[in-house]
Amino acid sequence: MNYINGELIEPRAKSFLENINPAEGKPYSLVPDSDAEDIQLATEAAQRAFDGWSAMPVEKRSATLQKIADLIDRDLDQLALAESTDQGKPVKLAKAVDIPRASANMRFFATGAIHFASEAHITGHEAINYTTHTPVGVVGCISPWNLPLYLFTWKIAPALAAGCTVVAKPSELTPMTAFLFSKLCIEAGLPKGVLNIVHGVGPKAGQAIVEHPDIVAISFTGGTVTGKKIATTAAPMFKKLSLELGGKNPNIVFADCDFEQALHTSIQSSFSNQGEICLCGSRIFVERTIYDRFVKEFVSRTAKLTVGDPHDEQTKIGALVSEAHMHKVLSYVELARQEGGKVLTGGRQVKIDGRCTNGYFVEPTVITGLGHMCRTNQEEIFGPVVTIMPFDTEDEVINYANSTGYGLSATIWTENLKRAHRVAAQLKSGIIWVNCWLFRDLRTPFGGMKQSGVGREGGWEALRFFTEAKNVCIKI
Ligand code: NDP
Repeated sequence: MNYINGELIEPRAKSFLENINPAEGKPYSLVPDSDAEDIQLATEAAQRAFDGWSAMPVEKRSATLQKIADLIDRDLDQLALAESTDQGKPVKLAKAVDIPRASANMRFFATGAIHFASEAHITGHEAINYTTHTPVGVVGCISPWNLPLYLFTWKIAPALAAGCTVVAKPSELTPMTAFLFSKLCIEAGLPKGVLNIVHGVGPKAGQAIVEHPDIVAISFTGGTVTGKKIATTAAPMFKKLSLELGGKNPNIVFADCDFEQALHTSIQSSFSNQGEICLCGSRIFVERTIYDRFVKEFVSRTAKLTVGDPHDEQTKIGALVSEAHMHKVLSYVELARQEGGKVLTGGRQVKIDGRCTNGYFVEPTVITGLGHMCRTNQEEIFGPVVTIMPFDTEDEVINYANSTGYGLSATIWTENLKRAHRVAAQLKSGIIWVNCWLFRDLRTPFGGMKQSGVGREGGWEALRFFTEAKNVCIKI
């Protein structure tokens, strides 16, 4: 059901799509196949709600959003199970990461908005300038399937906290947590029309959001090709745009690293969520003096990762999100072979017994023997597939790391402080982790360089994005 004007309603055309459980390879629910008419209804509801919501005292807005966060915490188990059933990830991971981070997003922006201040500037003895930030209006938030509730809340929380009203579309591949979230919004007493969640496919419901003349800003997370299409539509309409796009992130391991820590975390940064995290380090560069030892250990530990039923506590790698995506990932393994790569472990579909016998499982895969410019090392695979390459010098590895069109994140492993700063300064990535991965401080700006995105989310940047700045200059 869509969530429009505070109610759960069917799409106008009564058209639905099957929602597939990827671990079982079969449908388990229906999802609205909404169209421009549903987006129109949602936009009208958001417009009606705007004056009340944007004028509400920020403390009151904040309290409602914090109530939603409390309800997410209360329903952790149910939401984690839904996220896993939609997406294929281990329930354990959804419980430990996705859902707690979703409630953290709500809480962070709910409280952040209270402290969001306007600025004043004394201009010599001549003038005072003050700048106000007012909510921009009705905004569109479009999110992908890989971290469904986490990325959905990452977009809508700052929009709502800033005082905007929202028309949001989650990926049609993973709609269930957004549907459960709409029930929590009703329970928390979120005023009607403040948030509208319209389910459906990108080219129809998503495109209708981007094209709607009364939706004045678009916050999008997804693939680079879709981002380009959205920008093509939105730019001539002069909409505000925030695009969080794909990545092909380098993971650089210097010989002076803490070997065990680098190895352990690199396994996580390669295969967490089946490699379906935009921040996964899919290209591992290892200094030649430790290359053989690193590859041997990495391959041996990767081969022991349990691929299996996402409900099973022992499972480290669940199902890929869809059959089509599984075939895409496997086609990249084939491409890597054609390009001269050597598959040291993995590379095949896995058949699981029991309820998951028709699921979309792929072995974690490690490939060596490829150059940094081949397609396998240039294009985003977005699955449990990594390549490992040796390097000799710092300059060489910086060149390798920066050689793709992407620039989302990078990881550096070294115990040499000067080197860490030196290399970080030269990497063209929006976020660089040194001796860690996926560590987040929500106050920091987040986003990609080059084709990984435009704009920054997180902290004040996100709240600012959803506001319009106005400056008043008073001559004194
Ligand atoms: P897509 O770009 O295919 O889809 C993202 C969202 O956009 C979905 O809700 C999709 O709907 C919708 N959409 C598709 N076409 C249009 C359109 N023409 N107009 C408006 N909306 C549209 O990405 P995926 O869902 O496949 O997600 C994976 C990608 O997301 C990867 O490239 C990954 O790197 C990136 N990503 C980036 C992150 C970042 O922070 N930079 C974080 C997480 C993922 P539907 O699914 O219904 O087609």
